[in-house]
Amino acid sequence: MDKTKIRNLLSEHGMRITPQRLAVVEALFSLRSHPTVEEVASIVHKTQPNVATGTIYHILETLVKRGMVMKVKTESDVMRYDIFLDPHHHIYCTDCSSIEDYYNEELTRMLELYFEEHTIPGFTIDEVRLQISGRFEDPSKHRSIRVDRKSSIA
Ligand SMILES: [Zn+2]
Repeated sequence: MDKTKIRNLLSEHGMRITPQRLAVVEALFSLRSHPTVEEVASIVHKTQPNVATGTIYHILETLVKRGMVMKVKTESDVMRYDIFLDPHHHIYCTDCSSIEDYYNEELTRMLELYFEEHTIPGFTIDEVRLQISGRFEDPSKHRSIRVDRKSSIA
């Protein structure tokens, strides 16, 4: 992700461009791993050692409020951040607490169709995202998983 694109993205979301904000967004794009505040801070601190972690937290929360970043809550209650907002689900490994992306258009469509037909009274659904918990047999296999099987939903 180049700096011009990050600048545009910040302006599109109505945010002033500051070196700190640029560094935070850059870190989010470089870490595809749903980083915690501390993980984002460790990347930002490589180029801007004087930015307080509290400031980074504040920037992340502003990005969430502006709809540029999504919060991902884990079972261990550690808040993580996701800047990839295309429809995807999450695979949560209970052994190491890592979160991998799970792309499956068929599943996403199936869930959308289900809730179009089965509304929840008094509740407006913005999005349905699954968090699938379990353990990877081979920890080295941690990576984003994409299921591209295009079959019709029976
Ligand atoms: Zn994700």
